[in-house]
Amino acid sequence: MAEYAARNWNEATMNENPLLQFEELPPFAHITAEHVEPAIDHLLAENRRRLAELLDGLQEPTWETLIAPIEEWEDELERAWSPVSHMNSVVNSDELRAAYNACLPKLTAYGTEIGQNEQLYQAYRKLAESDQAFNAEQRKVLDNALRDFHLSGIDLAADKKARYKEISQQLSQLTSRFSENLLDCTNAWEKRIQSADALAGLPQSAVELARQTAEQRDYDGWLLTLDYPSYFPVMNYADDRALRRELYEAYNTRASDQGPHERRFDNSEIMEQILALRHELAQLLDFGNYAERSLATKMASSTDEVIHFLEDLARRSHPQAERELAELREYAASLGHDDLQPWDVPYFSEKLRQQRYSISQEEVKPYFPETRVVPGMFEVMSRLFGVSFSEVEGVQAWHPDVKFYEVRDAQGQEVAQFYFDLYARPNKRGGAWMDTCQSRMVTRERCQLPIAYMTCNFTPPVGDKPALLTHDEVETLFHEFGHGLHHMLTRVDYPEISGIAGVAWDAVELPSQFMENFCWQREALDLFSGHYESGERIPQAMFERMLAARNFQSAMLMVRQLEFSLFDFRIHREYDPSEGGRIYPILDQVRAEVAVIEPPAWNRFAHGFSHIFAGGYAAGYYSYKWAEVLSADAFSLFEERGVFDPETGQSFLRNILERGGSKDAAELFRAFRGRDPEIDALLRHSGIAA
Ligand SMILES: [Zn+2]
Repeated sequence: MAEYAARNWNEATMNENPLLQFEELPPFAHITAEHVEPAIDHLLAENRRRLAELLDGLQEPTWETLIAPIEEWEDELERAWSPVSHMNSVVNSDELRAAYNACLPKLTAYGTEIGQNEQLYQAYRKLAESDQAFNAEQRKVLDNALRDFHLSGIDLAADKKARYKEISQQLSQLTSRFSENLLDCTNAWEKRIQSADALAGLPQSAVELARQTAEQRDYDGWLLTLDYPSYFPVMNYADDRALRRELYEAYNTRASDQGPHERRFDNSEIMEQILALRHELAQLLDFGNYAERSLATKMASSTDEVIHFLEDLARRSHPQAERELAELREYAASLGHDDLQPWDVPYFSEKLRQQRYSISQEEVKPYFPETRVVPGMFEVMSRLFGVSFSEVEGVQAWHPDVKFYEVRDAQGQEVAQFYFDLYARPNKRGGAWMDTCQSRMVTRERCQLPIAYMTCNFTPPVGDKPALLTHDEVETLFHEFGHGLHHMLTRVDYPEISGIAGVAWDAVELPSQFMENFCWQREALDLFSGHYESGERIPQAMFERMLAARNFQSAMLMVRQLEFSLFDFRIHREYDPSEGGRIYPILDQVRAEVAVIEPPAWNRFAHGFSHIFAGGYAAGYYSYKWAEVLSADAFSLFEERGVFDPETGQSFLRNILERGGSKDAAELFRAFRGRDPEIDALLRHSGIAA
């Protein structure tokens, strides 16, 4: 069993409170909504009291008197909050959501308070500047902490500090209003359909969804909405061009001054304010603009480097994207459609793909039963990194479907554990993700192993038939397990930089995108696929069609991602208070430079771009492509030396997966690859000629 030391809960916190009563694994079954807020309140109060007490009594700070106790308290908070936040995502209820939302602002306020605690900052500085001996990891923890204090405005004069707080609060309100407008506008629109003929071309499942949505809203017919599961099939499959145009317009004018929404949810002013405040905040901290501020915690070293990176990729992909579009135009023309508009592009693309590769997700599914995919994936990881996985029976979780596993290293030593929650069900957030239950942390007193939540939303097994996965779903599973391995195989002892903690945002997708590559290698594929009835391998001809279809229109997709990335980066980098955001003029410039499809003048894409106006991707959307260069280039070493070359696998384990955020991403990459990243492998994998 794992070397879990008993939790050192303060006696006072060991009351009736189930959130605070676990010694090894979180007591999911006993966490109830009414306990959450008092438990978090209690912990925050405890942490504040303990911190004040520590700082008041502190003479000469050392690692053991300053950092170690703070790590313990922060860890307690993480382990109390993590199961709540996770359950809010996977077994949501009104009560739990209310409790969760009640705690969020308290936790945010606590974080800001720590970031601006002058006494604490001075203690960190004193420690960092002392002549005490620190190992490299401890030095990294201290450097990161000082950097983050600076980015929280700690060394500003009092008036500027106050302004910093004000801006932070306004920004959090504005970004939240941006999301609310987008959500409300999306929800406010619906399209009633009286006859099923109008939905010709749609897959049966999409027609059924439209019918079910209508029933839920007491309408006798079919109902389309702007939710993705409704919008996406219409754009891809609806034969009725006017219907596609209508949905395209409604979707691409959401929360704006255009389209059918009558300016009711207009984000225009909010977007201007967000850009202005971010710029002011960056300048308060002595950055030239918000793009520079964004890079302070990322791998890319300068804004010029990011712009050159994106423009270079655009230059290389653009000619092929033009050719792909020309092909599509020709194909549409051959069917009698000369005037290809943006609302025709997905529709004819889907038809062309079917015609050219005759491959469908449905056809491939019988070869990917979950019962082969999961053990096969473990086998792939075992061959690569020498790790092994075994299920532990009888561990209580939040739902009977959830499984629990132990992970052991090549020596048989237990190194991590994870919860595995594979199937879709009501009240579970969509998509797939890895999240942290607890982090690796080794102190004088105890060794805490990392635990991960691995969450997917696959179709559950029906009857005796195992769950059958699409190839996309298998790829998603490998992707999330890449994040999971990064969190679980870490050897770093300090929770601030162990696993994915402290890894630069533009490098964090390296292990995840790296693992996806194994889904496209015959050698690996045969380990985790096989017909669910006959056990037969995927026929080579089918595999070749899958490979061929993989890069269909990849250059068009690439330039679209580059358009978003350049737009995001430039509006933050070029912000000028005297001219305002110039959001659409800059978008038009970017499009003229990199895009191949010209949207209509009334398109208001940016008004719904929540990644950058409401999410964490501001001046950081480029991270997707940036990390893809790293993951493709890392994988190219396996292509050179063999997909399961044990030495290369060990090197990836030692230099990347185990190191977490303990060194800069560029340094770790160089240690593995023997040189700086190169772009060629990404272009080759995307089918774009170098
Ligand atoms: Zn990811």
